[in-house]
Amino acid sequence: MNTAYVYLQLYKLFDDVTPLNIDCGMLCGGACCKGDDGGMYLFPGEKKVYDLLTPSWIKISPSDFRYSFAGKRKTVYFATCRGICDRYQRPLACRIFPLTPYLTKSGRLKVITDPRAKSLCPLAKAMKKDDYSRRFLKNVQRCFGLLMKNAEFAEFMKYYSRYLDDYLKFFKEEA
Ligand code: SF4
Ligand code: SF4
Repeated sequence: MNTAYVYLQLYKLFDDVTPLNIDCGMLCGGACCKGDDGGMYLFPGEKKVYDLLTPSWIKISPSDFRYSFAGKRKTVYFATCRGICDRYQRPLACRIFPLTPYLTKSGRLKVITDPRAKSLCPLAKAMKKDDYSRRFLKNVQRCFGLLMKNAEFAEFMKYYSRYLDDYLKFFKEEA
């Protein structure tokens, strides 16, 4: 599968659709784009977008996060930036922040507030899912509904969701 093409198509869902119908960066001074607070995991196959486009503003490295698929150990890649990017090339994790996909133990895909966002994002701290722009929420659901049709992505989601469970436990929240 040409995963770069798939992600580039999915990115379009968020080129003009953001968590709120106003620029939420005005609420927090763009807290999630300071370029000094870690970075973001790329989703399986998303690295190919950056292999193709080779933008200079992003640094991609293998992380310690691994998952297994079809008998092979797979590496999750981690991206960092300096707080500046080409909006039309930014990773999927940035586009959906502060929401994230989550697979329940019974295998149901949900979109939840990312527990990792709680410490910096005022939306993640204060809002319920229904408070987000309806189009944004719908596009996040649609994006991950499509990605889940890929067997490797679905397997990755099991590992990713158990990783999120540690953060949910820390914040004493349920997905
Ligand atoms: S931290 Fe939250 S409120 Fe601030 S710009 Fe990022 S998503 Fe918007
Ligand atoms: S890549 Fe862009 S959207 Fe993502 S954290 Fe960096 S500056 Fe923000």
